[in-house]
Amino acid sequence: MCPILALDRHTISSIHSGQVITSIESIVKELLENSLDAKANNIDIRLVDDGLDTVEIRDDGSGITKTDCCNMARRHHTSKLTTFSDLDNISTYGFRGEALSSICELAEEVYITTKTEQDKVATCYKLDRKGGIKSENTAGTMYRSGTMVSIHRPFVNLPVRRQVAEKARTISIKRIQELAIKYGLSHPFLRLSLHQLHSTLGQLRKQPTWVKPSTSSLLEGVRIIYDSTLASMVEECSLEESFDQQLEPDVTSSPQPIRLHCLLPSKLSDPSYIFKGDRVFIYVNKRPINYAKSDLKEMVAMVRRRYKRTLDLDDDVRKVPFMYIDVQTGFGDYDVNIEPDKSVVMLLHKDRILTLFEDLLDRIYGSFFSQNRQNEVLEK
Ligand code: ADP
Ligand code: MG
Repeated sequence: MCPILALDRHTISSIHSGQVITSIESIVKELLENSLDAKANNIDIRLVDDGLDTVEIRDDGSGITKTDCCNMARRHHTSKLTTFSDLDNISTYGFRGEALSSICELAEEVYITTKTEQDKVATCYKLDRKGGIKSENTAGTMYRSGTMVSIHRPFVNLPVRRQVAEKARTISIKRIQELAIKYGLSHPFLRLSLHQLHSTLGQLRKQPTWVKPSTSSLLEGVRIIYDSTLASMVEECSLEESFDQQLEPDVTSSPQPIRLHCLLPSKLSDPSYIFKGDRVFIYVNKRPINYAKSDLKEMVAMVRRRYKRTLDLDDDVRKVPFMYIDVQTGFGDYDVNIEPDKSVVMLLHKDRILTLFEDLLDRIYGSFFSQNRQNEVLEK
């Protein structure tokens, strides 16, 4: 066997980048989250050849100051976190300073055009593979503040990854659309669009654009993204823990009330509509979560059980009903550092969340116990 030696920095960095940015979808997710962290109200996603040629995201957020630009794509450089203890209060999607540097490492070319309110004109930076600035030019195309990130030929240095991305085009576009819906729903104010272009014989052919306009509420978002029938069959409900419920003798962290904001199928809904497709939206503080791998899996099972029991549906319906659940809890009360894409959470107060959720389900479907008693009377 060879002797044990330290890997060189370039190799470490390349391996790491491939873990952070795994697909075209993960590029879109990271850029979308950066735009939301910059408080954008308008985000346009543009994909050329399903993102294999170009992924471009333009926002009207804060922009990046001239002094920050030299560090914006450097590995582990971030404007969102300074010390480890800050993690307890972090409200942004990003905080590791890894996305832009990984993208630079894996793509053929990366450009960032940005303008803050103070800047007279925008500047377009061409970045090198280490996330440093290769060149910069004045760009007169931005009127207000904002940022546009353009990525050309992602995964050009990882032939296997590129080939997999080529083969997975259809599923990748479907996932990007789902991603847009997830963030679009949880940010009603946000106007979000997805433009797809395909190059054939040197010409760009446009596909119809998907747009979620700015809406006044979550329910309005459901009506626009899906349809008014679904919007009429769901019930919006918010619930916050009472002071007594917050008290847990073994908890040392400062108790902060947990709040739930949900949109669940109403008692009068049509199950054939409610069970259509895969429309389960679970968030922690508006961060979309992979519920199947997280502590929140139980909440999905609870809704399914309650809804089916209320409508007296057969138990062999495997599908999951439409649901939107956002668990709002203290930023220090959960850990998202489990997967590189932060889609899995571990929760400190899982039991408190489930108890509160049981109360919320009682409000929508009636008390579990009275429901059981009613069923018993009917059976007799
Ligand atoms: P992180 O989001 O974890 O900080 P990124 O690599 O995604 O790391 O971004 C690095 C930094 O670049 C961010 O901390 C932010 O200051 C800046 N940045 C990136 N994208 C944008 C954007 N769209 N608008 C404003 N600032 C941005
Ligand atoms: Mg980020």
